[in-house]
Amino acid sequence: MLNRIDLRGAVRDPRRLLPRAQLDVSVAVERIRPLVEAVREHGYPAIREASERFDGVSPERLRVPAEAIAEAEGTLDPQVRAALSESISRARKVHADQRRTDHTTQVVPGGTVTERWVPVDRVGLYVPGGLAMYPSTVVMNVVPAQAAGVRSLVVASPPQQENGGLPDARVLAACALLGVDEVYAVGGAQAVAMLAYGSAVDPDGAERCDPVDMITGPGNIWVTAAKRLLRGVVGIDAEAGPTEIAILADDTADPAHVAADLISQAEHDPLAASVLVTPSPALVEAVERELARQVPATKHAERVTAALTGGQSGVVLVDDLEAGLRVVDAYAAEHLEIQTENAREWALRVRNAGAIFVGAWSPVSLGDYCAGSNHVLPTGGCARHSSGLSVQSFLRGVHLIEYTEQALREVAPHVVVLAGVENLPAHGQAVSVRFPGDAP
Ligand code: NAD
Repeated sequence: MLNRIDLRGAVRDPRRLLPRAQLDVSVAVERIRPLVEAVREHGYPAIREASERFDGVSPERLRVPAEAIAEAEGTLDPQVRAALSESISRARKVHADQRRTDHTTQVVPGGTVTERWVPVDRVGLYVPGGLAMYPSTVVMNVVPAQAAGVRSLVVASPPQQENGGLPDARVLAACALLGVDEVYAVGGAQAVAMLAYGSAVDPDGAERCDPVDMITGPGNIWVTAAKRLLRGVVGIDAEAGPTEIAILADDTADPAHVAADLISQAEHDPLAASVLVTPSPALVEAVERELARQVPATKHAERVTAALTGGQSGVVLVDDLEAGLRVVDAYAAEHLEIQTENAREWALRVRNAGAIFVGAWSPVSLGDYCAGSNHVLPTGGCARHSSGLSVQSFLRGVHLIEYTEQALREVAPHVVVLAGVENLPAHGQAVSVRFPGDAP
């Protein structure tokens, strides 16, 4: 079922040989550019038109009424409430520990630099809802933002025909459990554009969505493309697009577990990627047998098959685990499972991954919901330079520079010299003017 890539023997640059999605984000950017431009220019009518086209609803209002959020919470299944509450409390525990504190460095007597961590003012949180519904993503977006102290939080999630054009009721209930009351029934690229530019001429002015300073959250390729296009207009956390799982495994891995974990992420999206990296041909055969057994029995077998047989998924055969480590580093998966002997030792040597799941008892599904870690993670190789969502994502480090007269006087000659080197003499003058009697 899985494509096979044989990297045994000397392979210098595995990155270009690894499986990746055919439709890449840069292609999707060009497709959604006119839609994003239309939202910038026209606001509400363009959002409504896109909602009709892609979600089959024509909303009168974009903002979800407070009563609908309260009702969703009131009618929430008790088991779902308990599971969401557990997810929230574990995530809060981990994210509370991430908060950095302000720090002052005394550079010289009388000269200090203080780093203050200041939360972003207004943040838009995207919660997907196309092929699957994601109340868990409300938790993963809101918990770190609240822990960072963000004052204004807005959630946008696709309207659902089955819920009268509102977002999924469990998504609304999760918003209520977390105390978020500004929610918009808008999805896809149009939601990202609305958050960036505002909804401008919503017929009911009071319910207009004002622009945010930053957008976070995962989504499909269209959402990811809009985030890439609007980076700079607003802050963007990272590209958290169609899900990826890579599993580095040896003969000690249980093939039934490996297959189940590959399927679990393929279930998200036909564009999701599931990649097994192993030196063991015997494991590959056993995992293939398990896939043949498990895939037909899974609820979304068609979507899973599309993802597993797509060019973005496959098995990579390597000489040994050292070579496997080079491959997973080159791939930089959103989720990386290590199912090997001494898994923790291998995990500690990995450099590029969104999150690493260590050993047989830490599957990605645990991290999707209840590990306490965040599930909004970089995809498409972005784990080489970006992190998953955290409290830090919502904070800006602002330096406070405070020097006394004496401390400035002592360093003034160096400032003047460096300003001269850069042919910016007015910079030097701005310091020496303060000390007219001193030698130049
Ligand atoms: P979604 O909300 O991301 O996308 C649905 C929206 O896409 C719709 O509202 C519609 O407006 C828009 N759309 C659909 N077809 C379109 C087209 N042809 N052109 C333009 N816009 C179109 O929900 P989804 O589809 O269920 O996808 C969720 C995604 O989020 C999955 O790919 C999943 O793997 C990913 N995900 C990623 C992470 C992460 O951290 N990387 C976490 C969770 C989920």
